[in-house]
Amino acid sequence: MSNLEQTLSIIKPDAVERNLENEIKEMFKSNGFTILKEKKIKIEKSEAEKFYKVHQTKPFYSDLCDYLSSGPIVVIVLEKENAVLGNRELMGATNPKDAEEGTIRKKYGISIDKNSVHGSDSVENAKIEIDFFFKD
Ligand code: UDP
Ligand code: MG
Repeated sequence: MSNLEQTLSIIKPDAVERNLENEIKEMFKSNGFTILKEKKIKIEKSEAEKFYKVHQTKPFYSDLCDYLSSGPIVVIVLEKENAVLGNRELMGATNPKDAEEGTIRKKYGISIDKNSVHGSDSVENAKIEIDFFFKD
């Protein structure tokens, strides 16, 4: 059965700052993802707070929102069979130290907070996150 999905990726400020945008996009493409939409933007902290609302009770919430709004990011809609899980696998573990060889976070992540990419964690959240950045 075919199960074409879309998921949201964000290339975070630490990676954009190091000019890793193209290398990371190449990793998506070479792993079979189609880039349907993309834009480079800078968001306000208030928008980051909305985006990361699920984490509002976490101790790292404020720092996380400061960070996501600290510099340009690239938001990308990826499409592939089982894209949500596939992108989570390609990203690797939240903490780059725990990420598998060959994953984006292993290759480029600096630390648990500067871990280079975001990826939706479920089909439901992918829809919400894609709408968040691309609803006209
Ligand atoms: N994060 C952090 N400290 C932590 C856990 C998470 O700074 O102890 C940041 C990190 O940038 C992570 C984001 O919060 O990517 C969202 O956390 P989540 O648990 O959703 O991880 P992800 O889905 O990004 O792997
Ligand atoms: Mg998450």
